[in-house]
Amino acid sequence: MGILEVKNLRAGYGSGDVVRDIDISLEKGEFACIIGPNGSGKSTLIKALQGLLKDVTGEIRVDGEDLFRLTRHEVAGKIAFVPQIADLTFEFSVLEVVAMGRYVHQGRLAGLSAADRHVIRDVLEMVEVSHLQEKKVAHLSGGERQRVLIARALAQDTPLLFLDEPSSHLDLNYGLEVFEILERLQTEKGKTILATEHNINLVIPYARKIVFLKEGRIQAQGGPVAMITRENIKDVFKADVDIRENRHSKLPEISLIPRPSEKRQIKE
Ligand code: ADP
Ligand code: MG
Repeated sequence: MGILEVKNLRAGYGSGDVVRDIDISLEKGEFACIIGPNGSGKSTLIKALQGLLKDVTGEIRVDGEDLFRLTRHEVAGKIAFVPQIADLTFEFSVLEVVAMGRYVHQGRLAGLSAADRHVIRDVLEMVEVSHLQEKKVAHLSGGERQRVLIARALAQDTPLLFLDEPSSHLDLNYGLEVFEILERLQTEKGKTILATEHNINLVIPYARKIVFLKEGRIQAQGGPVAMITRENIKDVFKADVDIRENRHSKLPEISLIPRPSEKRQIKE
């Protein structure tokens, strides 16, 4: 049995389904990405998978245990989450924010132990923000802030790491950097990673599994080479694309085909 087993899940906000018929199985150490257009239900699904939504039916097993029977505290020991919209209090320093990831392991009122400090030092290094630890998060760039949020999640020291569109506020290079960090966490630390994303080309080299979500249903899932087809992209995104081989990675990538227009002029 995989570390995450989802069967026949449906979820919404109390007025009809947003996602339905969801079956996902993740092996330990897998890196999977949920891909779909705006409004397809990616954020809803990744929240439902952590037991954060009330209006949910179906089965979610994490590490062999029924998610719906676990306390919030127990879930926080298994799944760490990097939300799309940062819930950061900006007066805090990087160190203080990352330390919050340790709270799930502390008794009430207990301070940070030597072991906590050790974990914090490790994760700051892993995402390369050690040099920023005294800075206020308000003064960080978008790329730095995203790395701090990942560090906070890592400080939770869970087998599973979930992220909601980790590249969405970042420009090209920082988006790539985040996926490189995630790849290291997978290959070097054995983390099981599940991320939602709308930028398909960005995830192809990193994801071992792609789950296409369309209007709340899984349209197809599998390895990136099998999943990246013109038909799947047309079906899920309603976009006509060409698929070509990336010269460097030798993996498929998509290129958009602009719709024809008589008025458009090509400028050099
Ligand atoms: P995505 O992340 O793929 O853009 P979402 O999961 O955010 O998609 O949204 C899917 C659908 O669920 C949308 O129709 C959206 O309006 C609806 N939805 C999202 N959040 C809420 C909410 N808190 N309450 C009610 N409906 C919501
Ligand atoms: Mg979303």
